[in-house]
Formats: sequence, C-alpha cells, structure tokens
Amino acid sequence: MTDEYDVVVVGSGGGALTGAFLAQKAGLATVVVEKTALLGGTSAYSGGACWLPGSAVQQRAGIPDSTESAREYLGAILVDPDATAVEAFLTHAPELVAELEADEAIDFEWLPFPEYYDAPGRVPLGRSIQPANVKRGDLPERVGRLVRPPVERDRAGEGGRNTLSGGQALIARLLDGFLRDGGTVLTELPVTGLVLDGDRVAGVAGMTPEGPKEIRARRGVLVAAGGFEGNADLRAEHGVPGDVAWTMAPSGTNTGEPIRAGAAIGAATDYRGVGWFCPGLAQPDGGGSFTLGFRSGLMVDQRGRRYGNEARPYDQFGRLMAEAPERIPSWYVFDSREGGRLPAIAMPEGDPAEHLAAGTWVRADTLPELAAAIGVPAEDLVATVERFNGFCASGVDEDFGRGDDEYDTFFAGGEGPNKALTPVTQPPYYAARFVLSDLGTKGGLVTDERGRVLREDGHPVPGLYAAGNSAASVFGSVYPGPGAPLGSAMVFASLAVRDLGAAGS
Ligand SMILES: Cc1cc2nc3c(=O)[nH]c(=O)nc-3n(C[C@H](O)[C@H](O)[C@H](O)COP(=O)(O)OP(=O)(O)OC[C@H]3O[C@@H](n4cnc5c(N)ncnc54)[C@H](O)[C@@H]3O)c2cc1C
Repeated sequence: MTDEYDVVVVGSGGGALTGAFLAQKAGLATVVVEKTALLGGTSAYSGGACWLPGSAVQQRAGIPDSTESAREYLGAILVDPDATAVEAFLTHAPELVAELEADEAIDFEWLPFPEYYDAPGRVPLGRSIQPANVKRGDLPERVGRLVRPPVERDRAGEGGRNTLSGGQALIARLLDGFLRDGGTVLTELPVTGLVLDGDRVAGVAGMTPEGPKEIRARRGVLVAAGGFEGNADLRAEHGVPGDVAWTMAPSGTNTGEPIRAGAAIGAATDYRGVGWFCPGLAQPDGGGSFTLGFRSGLMVDQRGRRYGNEARPYDQFGRLMAEAPERIPSWYVFDSREGGRLPAIAMPEGDPAEHLAAGTWVRADTLPELAAAIGVPAEDLVATVERFNGFCASGVDEDFGRGDDEYDTFFAGGEGPNKALTPVTQPPYYAARFVLSDLGTKGGLVTDERGRVLREDGHPVPGLYAAGNSAASVFGSVYPGPGAPLGSAMVFASLAVRDLGAAGS
C-alpha cells in the first residue's frame, strides 16, 4: 500500500498541525500521520499558551513586548544557544502569528502569565498568547470528533467539552483550516521508519491494522511526533529523570520511534537528558498530574524538610526534585483552609476521597500523626512547619525567598504580609504525595534555523525536518516562559514548510 503527497507530517500536536495547515494552505498536498485514534497529543492537554514574542496580538493588548526585549531576555537566560536558530525563532514568531491570524479559522489573544526568569527583557505579566476559545457546535463534526479531550476527561475515558479552550482550541482551529483546505488525516498509523531515495528522505513507513504502509513525500517529511517521554529504555539510556508512568503525554503516544528513525539514517541527535519538568501530584493509578500555582502549604522531602521555593516556576521546581533521591517522592503538606482540596492547580487533581483511600494523600489531626503516616521524622516535620509559619507571619521566607518574584504571587491569594506565604494552622492536616512529572522530553533530532534535520557533519538530511519535542529544543535545557514548548514547535514547523516550498505563502 503506497500513498503519495507533497508533504508528510508525522504527529499531530501544535507544531505538526501548524506545519500541515500552512503547507496545505500554500497548495502543497499534505498528510498528517498520527499514531493514535485522536489528534493533538500533549498539545491538546495544554493550556495553549504560545510564547511567540513581538506579534500584533501583544501590541493589540498594549503589552510592552517586542522582538528586541525577547532577544534581550533569551540572551540573559539561555546557555550556549545556537544563535542563528534563536534569531530565526525571534524573527519568525511575529510573522507566523500574522500568517495564522490572516486565516479566519485562527484568532489569538494575550494571556497574562508571568515569565519564568527575573532577567532583563522580561515583560511584566508575561508576553504569551493563546488561541481564543471555540465552540464545538461551530466546528465541523469531524474536527470535534478528532481532537483529543482535555487531560482530566481523556484519562477518565470521557469525551471533550462543548467549549474548546487552550490547547484544544489550538488543535481544533488548525485542524479545521487544514481539513477545509483539503488536507488529509490518517489516524492509528504509527510511523516506524523513514523511506529513502538515495540520500533523500522520500517518505515514511508505518503500520496499519491491515499491514505495513508506505507514504511517500514528493517534497519532504516533517517529524513533529513528540519526544520520548513514554519510552522507559530511551529515558534510562539518556538520563532523563522521572518515569514513563508520571509523564503527562497521553498514554500510548510519545515513545520516540520517529526520532530513532531519523538517527537510523544518520541524523544527529542531542538527547539533552532533560524534559519540560514539573511536580506531579501522584495519582491512585500510579500516574502523575502536572501541578502549579501552589497557594498555601509547603513541600517536604522524605526527611521532613523543605528544599525550595514551592511557588517558583514548575520546571525549576521539578529540577530541584531531580537533584536528590529523598525528594522523589516528596509530600505536599497543607491544612484544611480549602476544605480538604489541594491548594494548587493540579491537572487533574482527582477526587480527595479516592486519594485518601489509596494513600496518595493522608490526613491527620496533628502534625506528628501526619508525619507518622507519611514516614518522616515527626520532630523534623513539626520544626519545618513551625519555621515556615514563622516566615508567613514575618512575610519573609528566609530560606528560599518564596514570594520575592512576580511569578510566586501570581497564583497566590494569601492575606498575610506576603501573599505567597500562608501558614499551615488549620487541622486536620493533609500530605499529598508528589513525584517528578514532565510535559515531554526536550532532546531529539538536531535541526537548523530552517527546521532541517542535520547530520553529525552539520549538513542537512535532504527532505527531513523536525519540530516540537521530536527536535532538540532551541532553548536548550531552559524553559523561558509559558508557551515555550508550543511556540518553538510552531515556529520551526512553519520554517520547515517554508523551506519545503511554501515559501512566500
Ligand atoms: C496540562 C498541560 C498543560 C500544558 N500547557 C502548555 C502551554 O500552555 N503551552 C505550552 O507551550 N506547552 C504546554 N504544555 C506542554 C506541551 O503541551 C508539550 O510539551 C507540547 O505540546 C509537545 O508538543 P509535540 O508536538 O512535541 O508533542 P505532542 O503534542 O505530544 O504530539 C505528538 C503526537 O505525535 C504522535 N506520535 C508519536 N509517535 C508517533 C509515530 N511513531 N507515528 C505517528 N504519530 C506519532 C502522538 O500520538 C501525538 O499525538 C502543557 C502540557 C500539559 C500536560
């Protein structure tokens, strides 16, 4: 079985569908090849924040954002970046937003959400944008049916909501435009290898229920099929902390075969040993839930001690967790001021009663009893909480500076002298188990400023492009701000299709 298109896009996240949408719109016959029955991968679970600096969207909202300030910000935080690729990102981000918004299917708006580093060029309240919500009833039935539901519903085996927001809206809008323009979607077709014509990538090999299938690409192949977060062997081989069970990627999705297929034909890889990390609320079924925005309470390790500012950006807290074995699992200690709910945003939180029944949460009338229930030394836990409560009273976290940065107070609603510091004083007390989760790995195929996959010698592999978590991130090991995964995926997918012949479109 062989099909032929101009462009073959592997995967269906934000990068993949941006590339597919733009290629098809430019008149290139394009196919999206997706492993699972649903489109959108982790991108559909996401908040849909896109770190795309300097666009008309921020200007419309009156945000003091610009390409120059984004350049300054990245210049201050990135470690040994590929300057050409960073510049391509900065230059193309506003062009991409303009190109997308020129289509009636796509609309963005500014999203207040602080950036992750206090560095020159940072924009107060952030410069991320997100797609506007879209109603299921306003979409073609096929689009609504194909978009992967939000994480809490997908994990529970339920369908999506009537209003698609965040990543759901991004995937739905791109897919709507792609199908409208005659694009092709093939689902339940895992790509297992790349097809070569001499040294040129001329298609992909996949597996259908009926047997192997080859899909040929007259112009080229864009691999945007997530990272390898779902592959235990690759994680271990490349030293990515965390666990397949705790990653946020939808079950059965991102196991890295397309990255390996690239490597098998001589592409350079840079696995980085890192992901887009986050604290993960342990779930009764063994999974983890991306958690951010802690309002009250404190995180302790297995010795009953704090080890960082719990309110700092989630990727940075995840990295702290990875630094010492006694931090995984950790326990989040909180009191009853929110009626027995976790004082944070956990996606999904789960049912407190089920957590208590499963032991992923414990509850006790006193802190020593809580300590006994989670197996940490009682005197250490009590001393830690007393010290923390003292910081809440004074308004100064002398140990970790919680509340010093605008990010720390963005989600917090405390009423004391420091909004981010609320004491743990109202029994019964709770402890919730936390593991190290991730939103995907960020190493993969090495690409250049045009999204072209490179060989070890620095020359491009003809016909092969990569974006999103299938590619080694342009931001290296740094997570600059909300929307960095999607923003970078979308920009390099777009640059790839330009190179493929959609140039000037
Ligand atoms: C709750 C949550 C909120 C988040 N919020 C944001 C946010 O607001 N902004 C942001 O930038 N990031 C956010 N992230 C992170 C972001 O969603 C991901 O890192 C990013 O979307 C990954 O994009 P991707 O295209 O690389 O992979 P994915 O979106 O996971 O897409 C990969 C797709 O490829 C398919 N695939 C895999 N292997 C194959 C194969 N062999 N053949 C064919 N198809 C294959 C998968 O099935 C999947 O559908 C969030 C993550 C979570 C979980």
